Amino acid sequence: MDYNSKLSTQIRDLPRSGIRDFFELVIGRSDVISLGVGEPDKPTPWPIREAAIRSLEKGQTSYTSNLGLESLRVAISGYVENQFRVSYDPKKEILVTVGVSEALDIAFRALLNPGDEVIYHEPCYVSYAPSIKMAYGVPVVVETREENEFALMAADVEKAITPRTKIIALNFPTNPTGGIMPREELEKIAALAIKHDLIVFTDEIYCELLYDNRQHLSIAELPGMKERTVLLHGFSKAFAMTGWRLGYACAPAPLIEAMMKVHQYCMLCAPIMSQMAGLEALKMGASAYEDMRQSYEQRRNVIVSRLNGMGLHCFNPGGAFYVFPEIRSTGLTSKEFAIGLLEKKSVAVVPGTAFGAAGEGFVRCCYATAPELIVKAMDLMEEYVNEVRK
Ligand code: PMP
Repeated sequence: MDYNSKLSTQIRDLPRSGIRDFFELVIGRSDVISLGVGEPDKPTPWPIREAAIRSLEKGQTSYTSNLGLESLRVAISGYVENQFRVSYDPKKEILVTVGVSEALDIAFRALLNPGDEVIYHEPCYVSYAPSIKMAYGVPVVVETREENEFALMAADVEKAITPRTKIIALNFPTNPTGGIMPREELEKIAALAIKHDLIVFTDEIYCELLYDNRQHLSIAELPGMKERTVLLHGFSKAFAMTGWRLGYACAPAPLIEAMMKVHQYCMLCAPIMSQMAGLEALKMGASAYEDMRQSYEQRRNVIVSRLNGMGLHCFNPGGAFYVFPEIRSTGLTSKEFAIGLLEKKSVAVVPGTAFGAAGEGFVRCCYATAPELIVKAMDLMEEYVNEVRK
């Protein structure tokens, strides 16, 4: 059978994730030091795991409300208010999802009509453009640049706005650059959203992981923005809960109602044991991640200084757990650099191009890796850089 002709053209034409493709090369190789996959190197804190075990012991194995357990939505409301100084009604403005991944997908599907444009910034997390296309929207890329430490410039956003623009999608701190937003640019982007009557998505998945005593600022908390913002957040990064598949969306009630319709037909609800674990995570709050955050900050300091020391220019990112060094001085493309490093030194990093064309000339290194392995990986990378430069 000609399966190609049977597939939805929309799906057939989507590229596979550049990260996953690259990691097929690593699977089965125990000798590789991976600075690749973006997840914490430690398991979920024990009290959170224990809460899930306890809920299983009690036989809590049923569906929950489509919106998620009410107790969890109340806890999310408190946590979000504390974190972002914006209050959401747990009864109608919060939806518990299967990770930020699902939240993004259903938010695009709930809002986009065919041909509607979504402005997003690249380099960015791999799911943005595909999620927009799967919802029949048109992704419109605005590049962020190293000279601005990968912040999004409002002037660039303004140039990309057309009468078809419906959404601006933001993710700061950003995967893969670790970039954060200066207040002035965020305020200017908020003003553009208000002027052009646009919705803003803000993916806050790394907001707890900020360094150098920074305070996070979300666009949701700027005046006039709550009514036009979909705030997406989850448990994967700060609480080291990637495998639990738990996230949430906070937004005005009519948007949550529309997202809930997509969610109830395609997902029904997030797993109850994950929701019970999430409740415990929010009870713990910062005590669950503060030690890790401090440890990531130290690791960031080490990796940034080692990369610059070997002549790979790397700015000091304000958040997340990624660095995005420039590798152009080696004369290699991002992909050549990453494949060569894996083949010759058994160190895995992700080519910047996995995060969009604007990532050419860079690689992403995740430093949520044991400190001694970071040092070893940097020693090997330095040898590699010296060899390719000869
Ligand atoms: N957004 C960004 C920016 C991410 O980096 C990731 C995961 N790497 C996600 C969303 C998806 O997160 P989740 O595990 O909550 O689905």
